[in-house]
Amino acid sequence: MTGNITFTMLKPDAVEANSIGPILAMINKAGFKILAMKYMCLTKKQAGQFYAVHKERPFYGELIEYMSSGPIVAAILSKENAVLDYRQLIGATDPSKADEGTIRKLFAKSIAANAVHGSDSDENANIESNFFFSQLERF
Ligand code: UDP
Ligand code: MG
Repeated sequence: MTGNITFTMLKPDAVEANSIGPILAMINKAGFKILAMKYMCLTKKQAGQFYAVHKERPFYGELIEYMSSGPIVAAILSKENAVLDYRQLIGATDPSKADEGTIRKLFAKSIAANAVHGSDSDENANIESNFFFSQLERF
């Protein structure tokens, strides 16, 4: 499977804005299959673990608050070249810099509340998928 999966979250701002459906439609339209999915709230501890790589960054505290502020949708997506193709579909971290037609350009509220997460490497796609899903939860 390595190389063909990526991990995503639809973040609390996107869920709050009733954008789950439209974002999933874009994901499917772009050729991604959904291998696993769950709708859940992250605790602060879980959000902190997930974003531990950003621990020293100035926005870490706010990011943890935000990511645990409401429900998220977590999913494993499958497609050839999944990590890079999904990063292209979601656009730049800062929505004001995201290309037209990308998920973040269309749905993000700000650089923090930027609608979706997408893995940045095959290694992290596996680590992040394993953080949320057991083998029994993948189809
Ligand atoms: N983030 C933020 N302020 C910043 C940079 C990032 O609040 O200046 C948040 C934002 O929600 C982003 C997450 O931290 O999606 C992780 O940052 P990263 O640099 O990994 O961006 P991504 O990989 O999500 O594009
Ligand atoms: Mg990242």
